[in-house]
Amino acid sequence: MAQIYNFSAGPAVLPASVIRQVQSELVSYKNSGMSIMEISHRSSLYTDMEAEAEKNLRKLMSIPDEYDVLFLQGGGTLQFAMVPFNLARKNKRAGFIDTGHWAQRAIEEARLVPEIKADIVASASSTNYTTLPDVPNLEKEYDYVHLTLNNTIEGTMYRELPNALNGQILVGDMSSNIMAQRYNVGDFGLIYAGAQKNIGPAGMTVVIVKHELLDDRPELPAMLSYVKQAAKHSALNTPPVFAIYVAGLVFKWLLDQGGVDEMQKRNEKKAEFLYNYLDSSRLFSAPVKKDARSITNIPFVTGNEELDQRFIVAAQENGLVNLKGHRSVGGMRASLYNAFPFEGVQKLVEFMEKFEQSVGG
Ligand code: PLP
Repeated sequence: MAQIYNFSAGPAVLPASVIRQVQSELVSYKNSGMSIMEISHRSSLYTDMEAEAEKNLRKLMSIPDEYDVLFLQGGGTLQFAMVPFNLARKNKRAGFIDTGHWAQRAIEEARLVPEIKADIVASASSTNYTTLPDVPNLEKEYDYVHLTLNNTIEGTMYRELPNALNGQILVGDMSSNIMAQRYNVGDFGLIYAGAQKNIGPAGMTVVIVKHELLDDRPELPAMLSYVKQAAKHSALNTPPVFAIYVAGLVFKWLLDQGGVDEMQKRNEKKAEFLYNYLDSSRLFSAPVKKDARSITNIPFVTGNEELDQRFIVAAQENGLVNLKGHRSVGGMRASLYNAFPFEGVQKLVEFMEKFEQSVGG
């Protein structure tokens, strides 16, 4: 089969060596005669596998001991509700930084939680989300402030946390850049990320939460309670065993590659290569302002919708797949997650140069 480069924003490309390992172990996991999909989540085959995955994730992200690590279900989207249910306790008020689509989904869900107020404390709407917003000093007392570290659709990313947020309890949605860029876990009260970009198959969500922020809330349904999930090591009900297993293999792969700092270096190199071309091209351009640019999701346009469409089709025919931008912003988007190889970006730029010449750019 011809080489394909998959630029999908998610579910996204996984390391080829991990996929091959899954294939080779799929029929009999650790010579048990059972597939990983068939083993009991109460067996040591599972608990050992889960414990190792957690240990490796702790190592990769330097997660301090006072944080619980949970492997839950429901995607990033369930966290939009689960966070306010559990953390908006004292003041029943949370602050949100509006950086676009996914931040807005988080705000909408928080507002559905009874008695909770969700305030937008800063917004990038005036630049159509091509920048990150200035965050003012916050006067109200918030139980936490939520920010989306990487905006998958708009292509903006926080490299540093806004100074005005020092001293606040931060909740970070890292769904699209967990382990693509180094953050200090200790700066956050809670971090969450759906698996299907940098971690593994959809169906598992990583939650990293400072233990002292959790208090028992007997009125919460068990599946919505971090305390109850933590007490049962994420196996309150049948956990997503296959997704956790693949995530564990990806964590090992990440450690073998040199960990998060190495990933960040590679991601910066990939992104810089594409941005350099975009900034010099007469046909294509990147709408996001330089200091806010994501290293994992890179939107670009020609400025002509019909030409964008021609480009997407031609790229697809040349093995450069899933370059269509999100329906809400149009244009193109190249997603360069951890497992995406540098050669794929070189091929894309080569193809864009040829396309540019062919239309007389
Ligand atoms: N947050 C961000 C930043 C995302 O990119 C996504 C999905 O792409 C979500 C949340 C929603 O994740 P899920 O589909 O796992 O619910």
